[in-house]
Amino acid sequence: MTFASLGLIEPLLRALETLGYQTPTPVQAQAIPPVLEGRDLMAAAQTGTGKTAGFALPLLQRLTMEGPKVAANSVRALVLVPTRELAEQVHEAIAQYAEHLPLTTYAAYGGVSINPQMMKLRRGVDVLVATPGRLLDLYRQNAVKFSQLQTLILDEADRMLDLGFSEELRDIYAALPKRRQTLLFSATFSDAIRALAGQMLDNPLTIEASPRNVAASSVKQWIVTVDKKRKSELFIHLLKKHRWGQVLVFAKTRVGVDQLVDRLQGLSLNADGIHGDKPQATRQRALDRFKSGDVQILVATDVAARGLDIDDLPTVVNLDLPIVAEDYIHRIGRTGRAGQTGEAISLVCADEVDLLSAIEMLTRQTLQRREEPDFIPEHRVPATDATGQVLKKPKKPKKPKSGGGGGKRNLGKWVDSGEAAAEVPAIKPVRKVPVFNTGPRKRKP
Ligand code: AMP
Repeated sequence: MTFASLGLIEPLLRALETLGYQTPTPVQAQAIPPVLEGRDLMAAAQTGTGKTAGFALPLLQRLTMEGPKVAANSVRALVLVPTRELAEQVHEAIAQYAEHLPLTTYAAYGGVSINPQMMKLRRGVDVLVATPGRLLDLYRQNAVKFSQLQTLILDEADRMLDLGFSEELRDIYAALPKRRQTLLFSATFSDAIRALAGQMLDNPLTIEASPRNVAASSVKQWIVTVDKKRKSELFIHLLKKHRWGQVLVFAKTRVGVDQLVDRLQGLSLNADGIHGDKPQATRQRALDRFKSGDVQILVATDVAARGLDIDDLPTVVNLDLPIVAEDYIHRIGRTGRAGQTGEAISLVCADEVDLLSAIEMLTRQTLQRREEPDFIPEHRVPATDATGQVLKKPKKPKKPKSGGGGGKRNLGKWVDSGEAAAEVPAIKPVRKVPVFNTGPRKRKP
């Protein structure tokens, strides 16, 4: 199969040739024809398998072939993404695909000055890639109008539809024309999100270019059990033992990111960190330097879990397991992309056994365990398997002697608002789903 046989126009084919894309990936082959026809779509495909081009190519073609010229302060297509870095990356890809087309594209996200974004939107843009919080700010200041909007795309759709973004999404939805094409793309869809998505779409086509909720098969995964307090030490030990080159390390909290970066830098290791408390310019610079190979170890919260495309990244390490099992798939999907191989190692302590069990159940696999002789944990991690069973419960922690405690769980630096909702964990390792008043949808023109 070729891109030409999918019906793409010559300027797009020329751009793909420059990028060296020879054949469509499965999600592209399945998504491009129906999106060109104007259908609504819910598409699931493994991380790193070309989802961006799967929606962007037919979108750009439709915008070129159909509809009016974009009016002042208007947008004709909106791509919503959960993080600022992903907004940059998705926009960059779309701009490359659109190189020979008479279309304008732009990325707007928070953490940077809004004025240049307002200026840029004055003339209108055909494709706007945005994070929800900043988009709403722009809308409320009349810098962007949606009357010309013909297509809405939610990239990392399950993240966009979960509670972290629900208020913002609800307000954006209320402002959009009901007659439009809607496309949802992600590597993971829980059943609840699937049901919700079904209500939002008009006679949608569902595409599953891979089995549901699976990590890319090109990623070799294993865990090492360890006591919580020795995780950083174990990471440094493994880094040296395996002579890891570039590594992306995920930690649960912003404080955890800073602590590990300080420790690594203290050992003169080439490390940097990304989390929601850092200024946007610092975040983007750390990511760019990691992508270009100038930084060897990037430590991040889940702001870096979704969508980021880092060429040839060989290793991902979970210093802490994610609170939400789906995020495991996204985190380890930063490696093994575009047909490459990779490895993903999780350092697991006894407290995390339920998180481990949830991941194994979601991904329908029992993760291989390897022990490091000098790091055998005092608090053993009970055996788990893919049925979700914890085969032997860990000892119950001692009850505190005095009263107090209980009540509100201290989420410390986890809780944030807006774009950094990517870092907000659900309290339980289950995604909750907001209720949208989606109302009856009118047919598209
Ligand atoms: P994505 O899943 O959209 O982030 O894409 C993952 C990587 O695959 C990116 O580096 C893309 O540039 C690359 N890619 C996407 N589609 C193709 C294709 N058909 N042929 C070769 N590389 C591709």
